[in-house]
Parts: sequence; structure tokens; C-alpha cells
Amino acid sequence: GPCLYLVATPIGNLEDITMRAIRILKEADYIAAEDTRNTKKLCNYFEIDTPLISYHDHNQEVGGEKLLQLLRDGKTIALVSDAGLPAISDPGADIAMKAIQEDFAVVPLPGANAAITALIASGLPTQPFYFHGFLSRYKKERREGLEALRNKQETILFYEAPHRLKEMLKDVQLVLGNRQIVLARELTKKFEEFIRGTVEEALEWANTNEVRGEFVVIIEGTQEEIVEEAATWEALSIKEHVQQL
Ligand code: SAM
Repeated sequence: GPCLYLVATPIGNLEDITMRAIRILKEADYIAAEDTRNTKKLCNYFEIDTPLISYHDHNQEVGGEKLLQLLRDGKTIALVSDAGLPAISDPGADIAMKAIQEDFAVVPLPGANAAITALIASGLPTQPFYFHGFLSRYKKERREGLEALRNKQETILFYEAPHRLKEMLKDVQLVLGNRQIVLARELTKKFEEFIRGTVEEALEWANTNEVRGEFVVIIEGTQEEIVEEAATWEALSIKEHVQQL
């Protein structure tokens, strides 16, 4: 019957595709892809000749309706993004939600994901963690985004574009302070690299190296549990006091 498969694809190293992903991509009636040209290359490599249709952020409404119609017609669709898991900082969550609303089967195919892959080799606590994805590209919103994370005790995971990394690190230093941080660069690829240290040291690295490739940024949660809690209690009792007046 009709089914929407959410299929993980490699984040660099093509050997990271799964056997099941290859089979489902071959068997599906359609592959819905974020970028059909990019996915065409993957399909050529694995000798998959399933018809490709486009589904990306910019045509989510139109494209979403098209995918739903195909499901209503009894088709199976394998949704992929350019890399890693669909629906994780990539298109997919919206169509999954709509397919579920119409009672279609939505089946996830696990596989590569940049955030979790970076986390397990980061050397920072792996649990609990908080996945943020991309911060805003605009300074004010980015700082506000970081501000909202200041009291988190969880390890925090970000995606960041290379040309914004330095600016992001400056804001991290400003808002979160000089915590432990890990830059996980070019995961699964030839120039895979982990830069581990303090935010200051990461900035130093960014200032002395050409910042190229793809990055996951992992930052330790706050260590200031007791202080923060005390501050909250103080704020609460002040508020109550004011209310009593
Ligand atoms: N859906 C993907 C996933 O499951 O990881 C994430 C897609 S998001 C649009 C792309 C971002 O993921 C990049 O900007 C980078 O932060 C991160 N990323 C993807 N591949 C990576 C890699 N090989 N090494 C490091 N970071 C990577």
C-alpha cells in the first residue's frame, strides 16, 4: 500500500548508505528529493533508476500537495534530503505530519546524521543533549537564540555554515562564555577533524585557519546549576513580594 519512507543518505562518505536504503530507493514508485540533481548523482552511483521528483523548502506547499496526492493514488514515496536524515534541519517534517494526518504509513529508515555522529566522538557528555540546528544568520536573532540557551545544562548541538562560524563563535563567547566546545568538521570525509577545547581556543583556531567544509558545533551545558536555581528563587520571591504589595 501507499507509504512515505524517510530515507537517510550519507553525509559525505557514500559507504554510509544502508543496504535497506538502497533497496527502498530502488523499490519505491518515486524518490522525492530536496535537490534532484544532487540525488541523481547518488542514484547513478548505486544504480537506482526510480523517477525523481522535487520536494524542497521553497515548494513545500505545492510539492507537499503533490506528494500527498501520490500517496492517495496508492504510490510509495522515498523522501531524501541532500545529506543525512530528512526532517532534521532539512525538509521532511511537514510532509510527514500531513501524511500521518491522512493515516498513511510513515516509515523512517535510519542512517547517517551529522549531529549525533559528532556528539558521540565529541568527548562531551552525550546525555542529556539538546539539538538546536542552525542559529539565525542575523546577529540580533542569533544572540537572542544563544541567550535563550544560557541556562541549559544539556550539551548543546548546532549546525553552522563555514562562512558564519567565526561570527557565531564570537557570539558564543559573548553570551555563553568560555565553555568547552567541539568543532566537528567534514565528518566521514577525507579531512574529518575534531577541534576540541575552550571557546577561546576554537576562536583562535578559526582565526588562524581557513574555515572550510561542514561543521557541527557542540558546546557543553552550563555548570552553574545552583547559582541559577538560587537566582530563580530570588526572582520568584521578589515577584511574590511585589504581588503582596
Ligand atoms: N539532515 C542533515 C543531518 O541529518 O545531519 C543535516 C542537513 S543541514 C542542511 C546541513 C548541516 O549539517 C551543515 O551545515 C553542517 O552543519 C551539518 N553537516 C552535514 N554534513 C556534515 C559533515 N559531513 N560534517 C560536519 N557537519 C555536517
